[in-house]
Amino acid sequence: MAEQKRDYYEVLGVDRNADEAAIKKAYRVLAKKYHPDANPGDKEAEKKFKEASEAYAVLSDAEKRRQYDQFGHAAFDGGAGGAGGFDFSNMDMGDIFGDIFGDFFGGGSRSRRANNGPMKGANLRASVRISFEEAVFGCEKEIEMVLKDECATCHGTGAKPGTSKETCPKCGGKGKVVYSQQSLFGMVQNVQTCPECNGSGQIIKEKCPTCRGNGYTSSKKKIQVSIPAGIDNGQSVRIREKGEPGINGGPRGDLLVEVIVSSHPIFQRQDMNIYSTAPISFAQAALGGEVRINTVDGDVVYEVKPGTQTDTKIRLKGKGVPSLRNKAIRGDHYVTLVVQVPTGLNEAAKEALRAFDEETGQTLKQQTSGAAKTKKKGFKDKIKEAFDEI
Ligand SMILES: [Zn+2]
Ligand SMILES: [Zn+2]
Repeated sequence: MAEQKRDYYEVLGVDRNADEAAIKKAYRVLAKKYHPDANPGDKEAEKKFKEASEAYAVLSDAEKRRQYDQFGHAAFDGGAGGAGGFDFSNMDMGDIFGDIFGDFFGGGSRSRRANNGPMKGANLRASVRISFEEAVFGCEKEIEMVLKDECATCHGTGAKPGTSKETCPKCGGKGKVVYSQQSLFGMVQNVQTCPECNGSGQIIKEKCPTCRGNGYTSSKKKIQVSIPAGIDNGQSVRIREKGEPGINGGPRGDLLVEVIVSSHPIFQRQDMNIYSTAPISFAQAALGGEVRINTVDGDVVYEVKPGTQTDTKIRLKGKGVPSLRNKAIRGDHYVTLVVQVPTGLNEAAKEALRAFDEETGQTLKQQTSGAAKTKKKGFKDKIKEAFDEI
């Protein structure tokens, strides 16, 4: 027979009629005082801590307290009438600490209680690559995913039909095991997920032959992904209920498809605007004329003004990317005109250029001196002209 146990009320120093709050408060004081972390190597403190924790575990539980009040310590050694055994070695200290101290002892170590209610399944992630134009105008893509489905044979239990799950003998159904070392209650850090049942608290005696106990079957599925016009690189499309199956009858999780937009050889994008450069010939720049400019809507013809300088920027209104929220609203396309200096000229072309230079040399000089006087106005006007032309 083990040594005589002290009365639980006496241990906590509370009245037999003490309410829940008083019991909690008394235990808190004792646990703080005798906690092994506060008394390293002190066997007496450890013993007191254990004693107080045991008393609290019983008196804080209405049912156990009732049994204790009726039968005393005998209620839990398995010998007394009807109450059944109460094994302290399976006591979940993690939960007691969590209830009492919250984050008092550094927090975080408290594991969540098992939740048996319906839960939404986890979300899945995938990615899909699309072209620049597909991002601008939207597209439909098909991707292939391995999806889990509830096993039709066992309806997700993992147990062979006709058999059922059993309480895990290792953790007693708690899903957690407490590894006690020599200091019996240095165990806040030693609560671990039960390796036998992986935390579910239940084990399958006879596994379902279809799913081999997993509770689900996996299969490849084709999934349509509707990608809206205006989507940008790195944004995701959510497809509802194509994620992991729900738990206990909860809905499936979602599938989040990240969109990767390939870069374009000509176009660059910044939010809803598109940028590109377009070459124009020296003669076109000087004389003016029509140039073809690539846009996502196809080529447009643009009338270049005579005397257009290199790096002139023009805006093609509404030729940019649609708004994700409203397709009718589109950004603009900005084009930088780059005057090409001719190379590889034949003799006739060279001769023509020399004649051109001869002819215009004087004119250029005059323009330069004349430009100095109207410099301010001239520069601003050029910018104004450059935009809003179409
Ligand atoms: Zn099954
Ligand atoms: Zn277990």
